[in-house]
Amino acid sequence: MKRYAIAKFHEPALKGKNRPMFIRKLVGNLRRSVKGTDVEEVWQGQLMIGLTMPEDADWPSIKTRIHDCFGVEKFFPARKVGQDLQEVRDILPAEIEGRKFETFRITAHRADKRFPTTSDQINRELGDFVGSLTGARVNLKYPDLEIFIDVIQGGILVYFDETRGYGGMPVGVSGTTMTLLSGGIDSPVAAWYLMKRGAHVKFVHFHSHPLTDTSSIEKAIEITEMLTRFQYRSELLLVPIGDLQQRIIVEVPAPYRVVFYRRFMVRIAEALARQNNIRALVTGESLAQVASQTLENITIIDEVASMPILRPLIGFNKNEIIDRARDIGTYPVSILPDQDCCSLFVPKHPVIHGDSRTVNRLEEALPVDEMVSEALGRVQKREFSFP
Ligand code: ATP
Ligand code: MG
Repeated sequence: MKRYAIAKFHEPALKGKNRPMFIRKLVGNLRRSVKGTDVEEVWQGQLMIGLTMPEDADWPSIKTRIHDCFGVEKFFPARKVGQDLQEVRDILPAEIEGRKFETFRITAHRADKRFPTTSDQINRELGDFVGSLTGARVNLKYPDLEIFIDVIQGGILVYFDETRGYGGMPVGVSGTTMTLLSGGIDSPVAAWYLMKRGAHVKFVHFHSHPLTDTSSIEKAIEITEMLTRFQYRSELLLVPIGDLQQRIIVEVPAPYRVVFYRRFMVRIAEALARQNNIRALVTGESLAQVASQTLENITIIDEVASMPILRPLIGFNKNEIIDRARDIGTYPVSILPDQDCCSLFVPKHPVIHGDSRTVNRLEEALPVDEMVSEALGRVQKREFSFP
């Protein structure tokens, strides 16, 4: 006998003309998500996606894969019997055994309209059956347990054990973005939120090696690897900026250096984005979290950008970001100590309300284009894939 899983989606189903494309993408992503597991087939049903696996499939590992596939709103392990309500009655007692519920509802759906019993009739017949079996009452609005009965071609699916996924959109339907990935807590979470909305993310990490050790590079690599399970393949661009920083140190007073580092990061990231046909950058900034993230300094950083810089965490509190980082698994790596390029030669108290005119005047002393193209000439690329 086979086992099944049923995945349901919400947003991809709402998107009008693009709906078939979104759903096809979700089916493809689910297929990719469960690669290497026991799942034998991923198929599209009516307003749901089914997965077929052998009886002895390793469900916990499959469950994690389905859970992490964006676009999946909720999913269930399922049983399939023949197109015969008696067969449903035969398996239901064992399926619901051990479950405590005082109220329930049956939610039948007849995708195969050739089946003679209507959904309403199925609801009533099986409702009576479960009621007399367990003593539980029907509550359509707030049931403790909702039992789904889907009549599909060649069988009936029975399922109820709901797990919530992340929802959102299947990765790949919203274009590609370039995320500035530090080794810290915030930027991996920012990248994850873009993926959740269907955007593929490429990563760029700036480091000062050999002026510093390779710890931030190692963290960026490990974090990219972790995030790849949400988008299946990733590219990480590693850019050494130690030389560039040394030129900044000569010309720029210490309090302004972080803002300068950031402006150069944006310029370099934009150039890399353009080379890759990408039209938006992403950072992990959150308003007022640190000195460089005031409105004044964000404005000064944005001045050098010609494409949008998306900041999905702008309104998040630190503890909210940490909760999410824990949930997606990046937190333990993010908090490992590293030699971050931005802590190089900067004071404890950088400028908080930077002044654009001062920055632009100081920058006149620097050969900006040359510094950018020098850095671009030293980019290294790493590729990742999952599973
Ligand atoms: P994070 O936790 O992501 O490091 P943060 O709170 O430490 O963020 P900053 O250090 O001010 O904040 O960095 C703001 C953003 O700038 C980061 O979220 C990231 O997007 C980008 N950034 C900072 N340092 C680097 C780096 N070395 N390489 C790439 N991007 C960086
Ligand atoms: Mg940081």
